[in-house]
Amino acid sequence: MVQAKKALAKKTKTRKARAVSSARSNDYQNFIGGRWVSSRLGEILIRDKEKYTADMTREMGKVLKEAGGDVQEAIDCTYYTAGEGRRLHGFTTPAEMPNKFAMCVRQPVGLCGLITPWNFPMAIPSWKLIPALVCGNTVVIKPAEATPLSTYNLVRACEEAGIPPGVVNLVTGYGETVGAGITNHPALRLVSFTGSTDTGRVVASACAERNAICSLEMGGKNAIIVMDDADIDNAVEGAVWGAFGTSGQRCTASSRLVVHKKVYKQFAKKLVERTRALRVGNGADPKTEVGPVINEDAVHKIMSYIDIGEHEDAATLACGGQRLTKGDYAHGYFIEPTVFTDVAPHTRIAQEEIFGPVTSVIPANSLDEAIEITNGVRYGLSAAIYTQDVNRAFHAMEETYTGIFYVNSSTIGAEVHLPFGGTKGTGNGHREAGTQVLDMLSDLMIPISIDSI
Ligand code: NAD
Ligand code: MN
Repeated sequence: MVQAKKALAKKTKTRKARAVSSARSNDYQNFIGGRWVSSRLGEILIRDKEKYTADMTREMGKVLKEAGGDVQEAIDCTYYTAGEGRRLHGFTTPAEMPNKFAMCVRQPVGLCGLITPWNFPMAIPSWKLIPALVCGNTVVIKPAEATPLSTYNLVRACEEAGIPPGVVNLVTGYGETVGAGITNHPALRLVSFTGSTDTGRVVASACAERNAICSLEMGGKNAIIVMDDADIDNAVEGAVWGAFGTSGQRCTASSRLVVHKKVYKQFAKKLVERTRALRVGNGADPKTEVGPVINEDAVHKIMSYIDIGEHEDAATLACGGQRLTKGDYAHGYFIEPTVFTDVAPHTRIAQEEIFGPVTSVIPANSLDEAIEITNGVRYGLSAAIYTQDVNRAFHAMEETYTGIFYVNSSTIGAEVHLPFGGTKGTGNGHREAGTQVLDMLSDLMIPISIDSI
């Protein structure tokens, strides 16, 4: 990291080259077993949690409570994964020949490139970085251009925890230059990417060209199904936080609410009431419930989707829909939490990832129709159902093609010991977190035969 810090001062090209070479010059074999990810790192993150939280809110706007949760995720990830360093199991098995001993062990992949988005600026880097270290790898990490500080804080904590220089290398910069430099670099054996599906496709192509391992976590268009037997207040609560938490800028955001016709009116009315009451403002104010969106580009994108919803898609704008510009709002990127009702499932606002405080209520006549609507998008990250009927819940769970599924709970809320990831346009089959991430970050199944005479 000392090298990486020096490297930061250099121009992009030199910076990349130096970071890669400083990582490569370290013998990663020495780091097997999680020796460098001790609970010491967790202690440092706990000690400085408040500062990291404030930094994050200042950096990207999410409300303090959520920023604290983001830092906590890094803490949880550190403690959980450090323990996994003692459980990097392989296996032994009988061999065909009597004089052979067969076993499989895990080996580090080598130098890993980690590319992360801005919406979970410490949690997502930690999800990649910590298990990569526990598996004995070295890393080059590039945070999103909007959120270098939170990742810098994490990397500095690694340094303080005693992880040797050169093992963790931070580079900052834009995706098309620094990001592409990572995906194209021949020394990087693996690239772990989280971001939009369009960028993920570019990353995957670059990795395919040079046969690098590539793990992708991408966009979502997640649905909550609300059945006619649901606890409506509970469903509304889940929808509000799923749709408007982190100002809707979550890969797991509840951007579609597929509601049974029998409870549709009641649900929509309560949802609009709850949404109108949300307090939008500065994330650093503890009373704020919904913070700003990330930047001016995001405002334009989200406002253009609101326009598409009203006109092209002919949906009903039930509440919100405006950029807030008066008073203090003039200094930021604030958009009213927005609900569209009577949304047809094939329209753009019901198909495309808006990544802002906008959700679409879609009517359905039956459970099977609701499941069909839920599945009818290019993404497959998270889905949920609100129902009192266990058979309906299991039916929906089995028929919904997503990586994550909830019953009577919103589409959000990952846990570090559970595998996280999606299907279709959301992922390419890998999972993060849990023990599953270790399979991606280590070369599994290396059979060794010993001629034991
Ligand atoms: P993005 O795709 O714009 O950028 C993600 C990262 O990729 C950034 O660090 C960026 O600099 C880099 N990048 C951009 N172009 C690149 C290129 N050509 N080569 C290499 N790297 C490049 O995404 P974003 O706007 O930062 O984040 C929002 C997106 O991330 C949303 O689509 C959201 O759903 C997704 N996301 C997914 C998950 C998940 O786990 N599935 C989690 C969070 C966010
Ligand atoms: Mn982007």
